[in-house]
Amino acid sequence: MDLRVRALETVLAQKGYIDPAALDVLIDNYQTRIGPRNGAQVVAKAWADADFRAWLLRDATAAIASLGYGGRQGEHMVALECTPAQHHMVVCTLCSCYPWPVLGLPPTWYKSAPYRSRAVQDPHGVLADFGVTLPEGTAVRVWDSTAEVRYLVIPQRPAGTDGWSEERLATLVTRDSMIGTGLARQP
Ligand code: FE
Repeated sequence: MDLRVRALETVLAQKGYIDPAALDVLIDNYQTRIGPRNGAQVVAKAWADADFRAWLLRDATAAIASLGYGGRQGEHMVALECTPAQHHMVVCTLCSCYPWPVLGLPPTWYKSAPYRSRAVQDPHGVLADFGVTLPEGTAVRVWDSTAEVRYLVIPQRPAGTDGWSEERLATLVTRDSMIGTGLARQP
């Protein structure tokens, strides 16, 4: 696959269809500038600021864009708030749709056939594989990303974090907690 990609890139560059320098900028963006830290800031702000949280739940695309995160694969965002009664988990059963601007590129397991099928059939089993056991009264809802909508899970804010700054709260927000296959870190 690596060779195929390199061959394709070479041909496209030779024919002048793509600019290798532009490709480098794109790759650098996704490696260093765009990633789960962006989503963690969104979640931390939602935890700390009730008005922002309400806006995020009402119009996630606009609320997220207000922090500077938007663009491809983030045009139609929906935020899902986890509560003691309701956990949310996201999958793309067809392929690997994922909210790039807030989470970066998807992990390999997110694109794998076993995750995509089992997340729907056996969400509790998948959560157990990730080391997550939910309290008995917590229901799990699985959301299937479509070609248009991208979901961001807002994990529950851990106890013992009263008065924390957004910056500090963001350190508790993991990538998996924003997909729903994990929980926020305990302080
Ligand atoms: Fe997809």
